Amino acid sequence: MIRIVGGGLAGSEAAWQAASRGVPVTLHEMRPVRPTAVHKTDRLAELVCSNSFRGDKLDNAVGLLKEEMRRLGSLVMRAAEASRVPAGAALAVDRDLFAETITGALASHPLVTIVREEILAIPDSTERDPVIIATGPLTSDALAADVARLVGGTHLYFYDAISPIVLAESIDRTKVFRASRWSRSQRGLVEPVGPACGVDDGEGDYLNCPMTREEYERFYDALVHAESATVHDFDKERFFEGCLPIEVMAHRGVDTLRFGPMKPVGLVDPRTGRQAYAVVQLRQDNLAGDHFSLVGFQTQIKWGDQARVLRLIPGLESAEFVRFGMVHRNTYVNGPDMLADTWQVRARPSLFFAGQMSGVEGYVESAASGLVAGMNAAALASGEAASAAPRTTAIGALAYYVSHADPAHYEPSNITFGIMPPLANPPRDKMRRKLALAERALADLDAWMARRGFARGRAAVGSALGADQP
Ligand SMILES: Cc1cc2nc3c(=O)[nH]c(=O)nc-3n(C[C@H](O)[C@H](O)[C@H](O)COP(=O)(O)OP(=O)(O)OC[C@H]3O[C@@H](n4cnc5c(N)ncnc54)[C@H](O)[C@@H]3O)c2cc1C
Repeated sequence: MIRIVGGGLAGSEAAWQAASRGVPVTLHEMRPVRPTAVHKTDRLAELVCSNSFRGDKLDNAVGLLKEEMRRLGSLVMRAAEASRVPAGAALAVDRDLFAETITGALASHPLVTIVREEILAIPDSTERDPVIIATGPLTSDALAADVARLVGGTHLYFYDAISPIVLAESIDRTKVFRASRWSRSQRGLVEPVGPACGVDDGEGDYLNCPMTREEYERFYDALVHAESATVHDFDKERFFEGCLPIEVMAHRGVDTLRFGPMKPVGLVDPRTGRQAYAVVQLRQDNLAGDHFSLVGFQTQIKWGDQARVLRLIPGLESAEFVRFGMVHRNTYVNGPDMLADTWQVRARPSLFFAGQMSGVEGYVESAASGLVAGMNAAALASGEAASAAPRTTAIGALAYYVSHADPAHYEPSNITFGIMPPLANPPRDKMRRKLALAERALADLDAWMARRGFARGRAAVGSALGADQP
């Protein structure tokens, strides 16, 4: 029997996968007995914010991930199709119908028992009775404390505010310059800087977006007039001064940002030989170097306004956002330190982490990790070995990233083509390159599924090479 703690996107998908393989599952969900700060219903797989599962074409990594999940028989994908609402090239759903579909499918499955209770400590597990922890970013305090005991306090992260991340290729390189503060990486100087969260401490190379006074004032004005999302009380409590959202800093005074994350000191623009009036720094954010985060730019501005305001930064006029800045509590383990690419805890293989708690970011990614964790827990319970999908697939690349990224700077990531191994002979055209990566991924997934004897689920309706593809 498999015990799954948390009936969100990951836990629900994991339960479905395990039960579909004939293994009995007990799914523990604490709602409605104990609510979270953001969930509003007692339904399984409730979407806490947007109703979008993002892009649904194969030229988009999350579109590829979804297609792979469909082939692997994902309940989340099936429910999403059944509750789909018009959203152009994206897959958006009627959130009530979506959660109802998942809840109904699991409640009526003869091998799934749903227990409404808060689990206070990680349950005992053995290889024949594995446990999956899928309690999400808002894991209850008691369980979070027990997980902290398992992984060591320093490995369980609580992030209150996160900075936006942009796609490297969408940065206008003619407007930015690469340098670290005080040219430290060249000259070995050590210059202490202020306490602001994530501000360049003089280590490593950054892309710097220099601003003139006029550009700064235009940006500042847009920032202080942008619409902010609501912060839940728990977030306020956990806010700390060194990590304030940029708009909060901006409201303290017109120059506050210039003495914090937009400090120009020590950054000389090689094209002018001068220090700019203000600078926004971009730091490489992923293994492949195709994501850059805006350093110290944690924000709770609503996403539409956020894109508009941040595109006023020189070099980011056409920025594509991989992740927007957000303020919320986020509990996750340091995947590279403790997880295998099968989503098992390396030191305790009968225990799995899945979903946001395992260190992925996003609805689809959470469900994808739950899918593989459920599949592998079922394998263990049946006396078989766990396995990981090839790294060339989106679902395999996600697991590889979580288990192999740099643990010292680990942050949850969405799926992107950047975390998949490059092609041997990539087409020069960007769209064709992405489609070639997707084609390789699906071929490798099919071969892996055939080797493992997995039945293939229903492939996408209109999600594959769509009419708008070249
Ligand atoms: C405020 C907020 C907004 C977000 N918005 C988006 C967005 O718009 N798009 C996006 O792609 N991602 C978003 N995310 C990130 C992430 O994709 C979602 O949090 C996603 O729901 C994670 O899936 P999960 O299964 O890991 O966790 P969840 O879906 O949160 O499921 C975890 C479940 O575990 C239960 N639980 C917790 N503790 C216990 C316990 N001790 N015992 C029993 N049950 C327990 C919870 O009640 C919950 O049902 C957001 C996250 C937050 C916090």
